[in-house]
Amino acid sequence: MGAYQHILMGVDLTKDSQQVASRAVALATSFNARLSCAHVIEPLSLAYGGDIPMDLTTIQEQIQKTAKVHLHEFATQLGISEENQHLTFGRPETEIDAIAAEIGADLIVVGSHGRHGIALILGSTANGVLHGAPCDVLAVRVGLQESS
Ligand code: AMP
Repeated sequence: MGAYQHILMGVDLTKDSQQVASRAVALATSFNARLSCAHVIEPLSLAYGGDIPMDLTTIQEQIQKTAKVHLHEFATQLGISEENQHLTFGRPETEIDAIAAEIGADLIVVGSHGRHGIALILGSTANGVLHGAPCDVLAVRVGLQESS
């Protein structure tokens, strides 16, 4: 087993993403690996099902526009070019694994919160990614410090 060649990091674009990114960038630098970045937009219909009796198209389009700008800003400041930036819709864990398979990533880097109680039972994105991953997965512990 050699060095990693293509690392994919999943970013939710919250402030935790910087912690995930700094690990992913450090690994990519030390392995001289390609670094890709993915953000998944969770469709409102997935989150709320048929509970909201209104057309969510306009709101969804606005969310997509904002996410596109934020992902672009986030990835560009890390030196990740546009061809290595991925924006898609669906469940984050499923989509991150699908993108990893599609681009031939050999390591996925995601954040992981220490969880307790019901949140632990419900599971996390990192758990979901691990279950369907086509490659190694690194869960970076996030949310422990205010800034880093
Ligand atoms: P969570 O389990 O929701 O706390 O998310 C933990 C980690 O999963 C985040 O730090 C990201 O690495 C990844 N993740 C969560 N949501 C998304 C998303 N919408 N798009 C891409 N990655 C995500």
